[in-house]
Amino acid sequence: MKEQKTIQVKDKTFAISVPQDELKLQIKRIADQISHDYAGLQPIFLAVLNGSFIFAADLLREVDLPCEISFVKLASYQGTNTTGSIREIIGLNTDITGRPVIIVEDIIDTGLTMVHMLETLKGHNPASVDVCTLLLKPSKLQVELDVRYCCLEIPDDFVVGYGLDYDGFGRNTKDIYTLIQS
Ligand code: 5GP
Repeated sequence: MKEQKTIQVKDKTFAISVPQDELKLQIKRIADQISHDYAGLQPIFLAVLNGSFIFAADLLREVDLPCEISFVKLASYQGTNTTGSIREIIGLNTDITGRPVIIVEDIIDTGLTMVHMLETLKGHNPASVDVCTLLLKPSKLQVELDVRYCCLEIPDDFVVGYGLDYDGFGRNTKDIYTLIQS
């Protein structure tokens, strides 16, 4: 899609807020940090679907390390004999026992999804786990979370594009857009 100042996704209008050049710059900055911090190691990146697929693809191409990537989803369902829900990671087809893991997320809002992901990952006994997110809304965080790698902090607005969707649409833009009219 060509760069546009505003876009229409279904019934909503969005205005450009993070242009692709800025995204590229910030992703390179974070990739360089990861390459530096993980020198001598072989991390496995766990990219959380669906929203992180474009970010993960661009990030990995800038990381200068021997590494692996797996695309995962966090599934949550109600068990029969338990109170509360059971969570499992779908798509994890590599043994991460004793491995350094980097979770790749599109956006952290309240942080609850990431907390559940970290808790579930613990059961797989990785050597270490770091969090890498494209976007973070600091004013929305409801939990204490150590986000080691963050490309951009944004205000508390709804965004689409570059992998992020509104009701399944709007993922296929090169820039990120913010909701201006609901
Ligand atoms: P959290 O558990 O941190 O509140 O929510 C994280 C998830 O909510 C993200 O992975 C994403 O799916 C969704 N989300 C939160 N904020 C936004 C936003 O501004 N735009 C889009 N498209 N999704 C969002």
